[in-house]
Amino acid sequence: MSRVVPIHPMDDFKERSRVALNDPGQRKNFRGAMDFLQAKRRGQFPDLEELESLRELGASIRRYSLSRLPQLLEQLEANLTAKGVQVHWAQSAEEANAIALGIARRVQARTIVKGKSMVSEEIGFNHAMEAAGIEAFESDMGEYIVQLAGEAPSHIIMPAIHKTKHEIATLFAKEVPGVAYTEDVDGLIQIGRRVLRRKFADADIGLSGVNFAVAETGTLCLVENEGNGRMCTTVPRVHIAITGIEKVVEKLEHVPPLLSLLTRSATGQSVTTYVNFISGPRKADELDGPDEVHLILLDNGRTQAYADLQLRATLQCIRCGACMNHCPVYARIGGHAYGTTYPGPIGAIISPHLLGLESTYPLAFASTLCGACSEVCPVKIPIPDLLVRLRNEAMARPDGDDATLRGSGTARSVIDTTIWSVWSQVYGRLGLYRLASWFMSRGRALSPTEQGAWTRSRTPLIPAAKRLRDLLKERKP
Ligand code: SF4
Repeated sequence: MSRVVPIHPMDDFKERSRVALNDPGQRKNFRGAMDFLQAKRRGQFPDLEELESLRELGASIRRYSLSRLPQLLEQLEANLTAKGVQVHWAQSAEEANAIALGIARRVQARTIVKGKSMVSEEIGFNHAMEAAGIEAFESDMGEYIVQLAGEAPSHIIMPAIHKTKHEIATLFAKEVPGVAYTEDVDGLIQIGRRVLRRKFADADIGLSGVNFAVAETGTLCLVENEGNGRMCTTVPRVHIAITGIEKVVEKLEHVPPLLSLLTRSATGQSVTTYVNFISGPRKADELDGPDEVHLILLDNGRTQAYADLQLRATLQCIRCGACMNHCPVYARIGGHAYGTTYPGPIGAIISPHLLGLESTYPLAFASTLCGACSEVCPVKIPIPDLLVRLRNEAMARPDGDDATLRGSGTARSVIDTTIWSVWSQVYGRLGLYRLASWFMSRGRALSPTEQGAWTRSRTPLIPAAKRLRDLLKERKP
């Protein structure tokens, strides 16, 4: 079952945003959900000093890990290989899918059951498997709902956050055989659970994401709330884990602070229901676990971000979604309007590396630069600075030294460039600035004498304000 809308082109970003803004139902859903998630997060961090020191620690761990990324990846590969995990490197989405497909064909797989993995969304995994005649089935409840609806996730942590109870109930009644309409939440969960149980038992391969990969011990760490991640990684005979190359940390002791930041920032939980540490296939004396474990390490543009010392901060991300939950733009247009796998502020800064600036530069401009995202980011990514940098990249001279990204200069326009370069000349010289001000003030006569709609709309308030002032004067003792 493939997504109907895997990745949208960006040229209709504005149109999608307009449609979203004109959908009061969706706006209400998102507003309610964002308020709820913000309150949950606030409840987890009552002590602001503790929050700040934890954020500082998390940011340091991520910066340190990235500073040693090449060595850590080699160490991770060596330690995982020693434990029997087969490590694969994929430069692109196509390569990652080809590797997974190669494994699936070798073990003659017909069904793959998936835990939640945004990287698998990023590479269009389901679509690639379906094209090869292999069913890829989502087992995370939110992902299951959007797969059933033929949609893409609208949030990186809560894929079906845009759907109401009524919409889910209607969807289940329509798409799941033998199911009657119910809006009872427990009933809906039981329906999903019944369907998914069968899928776990039948699947040949389980696919999962990775939250952190520990280089020193060769351990894959995976957090989740539904137990489906554990089922995917232990029941089928083959487990494929897929992750971006940036998720590596050096030591096991680096994981707890990041886990604490991740779960508290993402869902307002002190810890998730399941925390899985995977360190290899089933051993001879073990009852559970797969015969084979594979790890696919994906680049897909991450090395472009890594090569730039400022943009490298993008890779600190631990995918908590807090920046989205606090973004005034995301809260109004929702995830689908962005048209990329990762929406919201994190999507605006990571997508240009994955897809190129040509198709994604409007996202960097879809921000008020209010700074709410960086204030809540648990690993202190300076998101507004990165957005400004990406805007500059989009406007850079394509052949100049300042053009460092794929698609740099895409948004460059001769008119804009001329206006701003004249403005910078004028603004940089006092004499010119004074002269320009003098000329501009002469143009005052050209301004309309008729009141505009805005001024007219304000005029009736003025008598009311006067009355209020007089009233206060009268009442003055
Ligand atoms: S950028 Fe920061 S807040 Fe946003 S998802 Fe990544 S870690 Fe979370």
